[in-house]
Amino acid sequence: ELLLEVRDLTAVIAETGQEILKGVDLTIYEGEVHAIMGKNGSGKSTFAKVLVGHPDYEVTGGSMMFKGENLLEMEPEDRSLAGLFMSFQSPIEIPGVSNADFLNMAYNARRRKLNQPELSPIEFWAYVYPKLDLLNMKADFLNRNVNEGFSGGERKRNEILQLAVLGAELAILDEIDSGLDVDALRDVAKSVNGLLTPKNSVLMITHYLRLLEFIEPRYIHVMENGKIVKTGDISIAKTLEKEGFKGVSEM
Ligand code: ADP
Ligand code: MG
Ligand code: MG
Repeated sequence: ELLLEVRDLTAVIAETGQEILKGVDLTIYEGEVHAIMGKNGSGKSTFAKVLVGHPDYEVTGGSMMFKGENLLEMEPEDRSLAGLFMSFQSPIEIPGVSNADFLNMAYNARRRKLNQPELSPIEFWAYVYPKLDLLNMKADFLNRNVNEGFSGGERKRNEILQLAVLGAELAILDEIDSGLDVDALRDVAKSVNGLLTPKNSVLMITHYLRLLEFIEPRYIHVMENGKIVKTGDISIAKTLEKEGFKGVSEM
C-alpha cells in the first residue's frame, strides 16, 4: 500500500521567502526503507521538516499525501498522530517530565486517535517493558527526565524508543548517525532494524555512507539543490563512495 506520495513539492523559508525545495518527488510504500543522501545544504533537513509541518517553512506548490490524507491540511500534531514520526538533529530537554510519563502521554494521544482505550501507567509499563528489551535499554531510562543529561548515544536510543512506543508507520530519521561512534551506531541501527515490519517504513536522511552498511535501504535518493535528482539501489552508494556526489549526478 501507498504510504507517502510527494509531488513537485516547493517550499520557501517563511521569514525570507527564499525557495529551498524546488520540486521534490518521492513515493514510499509500506514496508520500504528509503535513504536520502546529498551534500550539506542540499535541502534534506528542510524536506523532512516540511513533511512534519515545521513552522519555519511555507509550502508554495505541489502536494504531499500520507495514507491518503492531505498533509498540507493537517497540523503538525495531527501528522504525528496519523503515524508520521521524525527524529530531530538536536532533541529538546523537558525538565521535570519523566520519560515514562512523556511516552505514556504521547502513546495515549495516538491511541485516542486510533479509537483505542488509553493505557493506565501500569498498563503502559507492561507495554513498554518488552520494547526496552528489544532496544537493549535499561528500565531506569524511563524514570529519567526527558533527554535531561542524556549522552548523544542515549538521546538517539531514546528517539528510537519513542518510535517503538508510538508505532509510527513512517519514521523520518534525520542524521541519526551524527555524533555516534561505530558501536553506538550499530546498536541504534539494530534497534531500527528490529522495528521494521511489512507495514512500517523508514526514511533515513544522511550525509554519510556508513549508516547504509547497517540499515540497508531498498531505494537511495540523491538530493541536490532542493530536488531529488537521482533514485536507485545500493549501487548509488557505491558510486558515491568512489566518485562523490558529482559522480552520482553524472551517472
Ligand atoms: P541539508 O539538511 O541538506 O544540509 P538544509 O535543509 O538544512 O540542508 O538547508 C538547505 C539550505 O537552506 C541551506 O542553505 C540552509 O542554510 C538553508 N536554510 C534552511 N533552513 C533555513 C532557515 N530556517 N533559515 C535560513 N536558511 C535556512
Ligand atoms: Mg546540513
Ligand atoms: Mg540536514
